[in-house]
Amino acid sequence: MRTHTLLPSLLLIGALSLTTACSSGSAEPASAGPRATSGSPSPVRTVDPARLKGLEIVNDSSEQRSCPFATSYPDVPGAEAMTAAMKKDVEGRLATFREGSCGNGSGGELNISHQFLVASGDVLGVRLTTQDGSAASGGLSTRTYWYDGKAGAYRTAVDLIAGGARNAFVAGLKERLKGREGVDSVSLDDTFSAPASVTSALGDMAFTTDGGLRVSFDRGVVGPPAAGNYVVILSKKTVTPWLSAFGKRAQRQTVTPTSSLDLGATQTPAPVVPTHTASGDDDTDCQKVTCIALTFDDGPAAPETATLLTYLAQYKARATFFTVGQNVASHPELVHAEAAGGHEVGNHSWSHPDLTKLSPEQIAYQLGRTSAAIKAATGKEPVLFRPPYGAINATVRSATKLSPVLWDVDTEDWKYRDSARVAQTVIDKAQRNSVVLMHDIHPTSVAAVPQILRTLTARGYHFVTVSHLRATL
Ligand code: ZN
Repeated sequence: MRTHTLLPSLLLIGALSLTTACSSGSAEPASAGPRATSGSPSPVRTVDPARLKGLEIVNDSSEQRSCPFATSYPDVPGAEAMTAAMKKDVEGRLATFREGSCGNGSGGELNISHQFLVASGDVLGVRLTTQDGSAASGGLSTRTYWYDGKAGAYRTAVDLIAGGARNAFVAGLKERLKGREGVDSVSLDDTFSAPASVTSALGDMAFTTDGGLRVSFDRGVVGPPAAGNYVVILSKKTVTPWLSAFGKRAQRQTVTPTSSLDLGATQTPAPVVPTHTASGDDDTDCQKVTCIALTFDDGPAAPETATLLTYLAQYKARATFFTVGQNVASHPELVHAEAAGGHEVGNHSWSHPDLTKLSPEQIAYQLGRTSAAIKAATGKEPVLFRPPYGAINATVRSATKLSPVLWDVDTEDWKYRDSARVAQTVIDKAQRNSVVLMHDIHPTSVAAVPQILRTLTARGYHFVTVSHLRATL
């Protein structure tokens, strides 16, 4: 992604025009970090991912402030070529981050969250929102990924526009951008001078609910970096003549979605949802017996969480799940199974940002939206939250009524994908009333659980939820 060099005066204009020249245009990503918002309502339709058969969310994250990252992207059966494109982009950014700022104390954070734009008929559209605190240009960047089920092909945002209409489309965009404060026409011509830079600049395009096209430009692409991202919305009437055949189908499936997605997937993994139901309340008295609270963050994940629930049921062990809202939305059935199995469901934010870097409104959004998703899945509001990376301050505390939960035994299982090592860490460090940190997004962590349960049960430990531990102490 290219970045302009601008005169200081233009930077100043850009900063002053923050609330007028640019707009995130969407309440939806609301992920990490400060960003400019115009307060305009989101014109982009969002999709309930729980409807997508066989959906898996690919998560990776750390829980350490010295190396704060959390990435996610969806894997939808049938759209393998699109999944591969997202995987390449996400893994590339993560590798750069881990080689660079991770562990050097710069405080930079990488967060990549996902959002479904369209999942209807033969069209799938996803936006990935990246907040990269370590990037030289800094801040937010977004990209939309498209899958054409009819052709069986991955499409980029530019593919929404017919090849023969791209010059007219770009001219239409430039016309609208020229009037914006901070945008100079020389740089604009430069940005759109070559096909490769056009594809790069037009990385985020999606339809509005009334058939218009929303084009979002990352920071520094068409205006001064200080002005953040710029958004142009072309009306349905304006953009329709420029659309490709796929673009027209994507537009139609956005405006009037059909009831289901059919990408012609030949194999869809069958959902596994444990049906174990806990019998009554837990009457363990932690003043009389040795208790321990296992906690599992960042899920739910299919199929790992289902496997974990089966292990816990075998030992009649209870645990606490600090769930990430965007994963709850994709797998509410697993969160329901957690609650039905006698476990506690806590809140771990919507997209796993460092909450101490957000405004009170953004913190409230991250936690409130997640609590609502948990309530929809379980019928019960959570009472606990775990701040991502254990990062908490007075602003975070006062932005929520949820009670924070940290930990005293860290398995570092996000770093060590080794079941034997993870199990041994818990067994060696466990003490009476310990709160143990693990992650149920990793198969290796889930695979460590039977040995932990077997060994600690033999040593007289009782596995209780965090709220139970707190209430009986
Ligand atoms: Zn986490």
